Amino acid sequence: ETVVARSRNWPIPVYQRKWQSDDNYERQVRFLMENYTWLRPAFGSHNLRSLAHAVAWGRQLKVPSGAYEIQMLYGMGAEQAQLFSELGHRVRIYTPFGELIPGMAYLVRRLLENTSNDSFLRASFAENVSIEELLMKPALRAVTRAVTQPPPEPEAPSEKFLNEPNTDFSLEHNRQAMQEAIDTVSDELGIEIPLIIGGKRFDTKQTIVSRNPSRRKQIVGKSASATPEHVAQAVVAARSAFRKWSRTETQFRAEYIELAAARMRERRFELAAWEVFECGKPWAEADADVSEAIDFCMYYAAQIRRLSIPRQCDIPGEENSYFYRPRGVVAVIAPWNFPLAILTGMTVAALATGNTVVLKPAEQSPVIASMLVKILEEVGIPDGVVNFLPGVGEEIGPELIGSPDVDLIAFTGSQAVGLGINERAAKTDLRQDTVKRVIAEMGGKNAIIVDDDANLDEAVQGVLTSAFGYSGQKCSACSRAIVLEAAYDEFVKRLVNATRSLAIGVAEEPGTFVGPVIDEEAQTRIHEYIELGKTEGRLALACDPGELAQTGYFVGPHIFVDVPPEARIAQHEIFGPVLVVIKARDFSHALEIANGTKYALTGGVYSRSPGNLKRARAEFEVGNLYLNRGITGALVERQPFGGFKMSGIGSKAGGPDYLRQFVIPVNITENTLRRGFAPPEDKST
Ligand code: NAD
Repeated sequence: ETVVARSRNWPIPVYQRKWQSDDNYERQVRFLMENYTWLRPAFGSHNLRSLAHAVAWGRQLKVPSGAYEIQMLYGMGAEQAQLFSELGHRVRIYTPFGELIPGMAYLVRRLLENTSNDSFLRASFAENVSIEELLMKPALRAVTRAVTQPPPEPEAPSEKFLNEPNTDFSLEHNRQAMQEAIDTVSDELGIEIPLIIGGKRFDTKQTIVSRNPSRRKQIVGKSASATPEHVAQAVVAARSAFRKWSRTETQFRAEYIELAAARMRERRFELAAWEVFECGKPWAEADADVSEAIDFCMYYAAQIRRLSIPRQCDIPGEENSYFYRPRGVVAVIAPWNFPLAILTGMTVAALATGNTVVLKPAEQSPVIASMLVKILEEVGIPDGVVNFLPGVGEEIGPELIGSPDVDLIAFTGSQAVGLGINERAAKTDLRQDTVKRVIAEMGGKNAIIVDDDANLDEAVQGVLTSAFGYSGQKCSACSRAIVLEAAYDEFVKRLVNATRSLAIGVAEEPGTFVGPVIDEEAQTRIHEYIELGKTEGRLALACDPGELAQTGYFVGPHIFVDVPPEARIAQHEIFGPVLVVIKARDFSHALEIANGTKYALTGGVYSRSPGNLKRARAEFEVGNLYLNRGITGALVERQPFGGFKMSGIGSKAGGPDYLRQFVIPVNITENTLRRGFAPPEDKST
């Protein structure tokens, strides 16, 4: 619990001092005894104070002695058990039996407990602590002991970047807040979104209708749809805002972005709720996307402060200063699957580094994109610095990419579109005076290798969440499980059963794990791949979304087994809840299969063999490799994200090199040897 909470930046939910849990035990004892008419209290402990306390409450509350029992482990505390029995209490002696391995784990736990510094048994048998102290109230005993034990070191406040914690939906008040946001947003559906160019709003004849993928008849919003003329105007606006914005102090630019993060934090449930409606993201996924957007803001703001300090390399008589200038106008072209985070990341990276932006969101998520633009306006980013151009990629993309005044294209999306953009941007136009730079984060066909000695409980869980979280519509999703022969049958059996238990439902429902896919086009494409899969492998599981498919774009999880590595369903990015399972002879073969695609984005290995994990580190060709855990959910700074081969060109998002792509390095050298006196400056002019 402690490790998991720390890794999520959540408060630690369990007691960290033994006396606190002893104290809590006593509170629970009282609760049980007070309710003995409904419950049958049983007290399993070798701590005599806890047991004596239970007996005392029993007497106080007049609980008949047959209404509760004391339990002790066979072979331990036999004398105490005898004593309680002689005093007329019901005593149950218990002993574990069954399989050896879980039994060993149990015994190890007992050993750790009984020998721990705070153990009652250790204190009474090994340390001969006085009976008075042993029987003290836990809180009092803690105070007495504290005199002899140094207090724990307080944790030093850290300067480190801390990821924005995701919401803990196990807490009622968080569930309520999210439900309220969903109710509020559901009343606001149908909003209209204009283009924003140079701070002015424009409606267009043609519009883009954004629908709730869980209920296709429900319209989330209607956005204007930019034309090539709007693109030209937006680029002019961005160019004219560039002069001032690029000269705005770095400190101020960073503060604008931090203010935007603060707004997102305040409105996190509302933003997540819009994602639930517009992109069919289940609660936890939508919430995590908002956290990531906040992280991008905070991280890039911190990075630009560091990056803006010039590097000096001086020698006597010469000063050398190395620093960065912004590039100019950045076209940000974003996908819908992380509708706030990716858009925010690319946009604030451009802004932090002093560039101005023409922002084109995906056709499927203009409403959430408009929320980001509104936040950037609210914090006071000047007009023209961010120009908002929702529109159809094929219609306005060429104009935007080809514009002679666009200096950099920051794109995240599919491989086909990314390669097209790269090609077009490479064509120089006579009006152009810079060579365009392209950052293109593209798709993946990510694999998890399951070794023959892997912990299958963990491997099944990791593959399942990586393959079917957000219906497999993450660029990092696992779409191939490569399993070694010896573990294959058992793994497949467990995976299929576990997948069958996933809750499919509308994204607004908190219990939904598998929501809809984004739109009809995606649904049709995924169904086509499923049909193809039936000819290329064996369909081991096809979950039926039932009636949901009548009202929303639902596709249930599908698992194909015995798939040849070169099959199309094992090579193409399907971007849906379709997983192929491939059998490998040995670990070398598994690596060969894993690397046998054009992509290199994410990958994972479940293994207990240090040798195989070491090989994976060296030979698995992916940008983000995860060992013995799921392969999605990269966090800013902790796991900078991005791939290579056909998965992307560019440095990792949320990593230390990302911002450098948005700047031009410049070096200035000054000869500082004095050659006579400089004439005094004429102060009169
Ligand atoms: P997409 O390529 O269809 O669209 C992405 C963006 O490009 C959209 O804004 C779209 O309007 C625009 N676009 C489309 N045609 C264009 C053109 N001719 N010129 C200019 N722009 C054009 O991708 P998508 O469906 O929105 O997103 C899913 C894809 O994104 C998947 O392939 C996924 O793997 C990938 N992805 C990659 C990463 C990563 O970090 N590597 C992250 C998220 C998504």
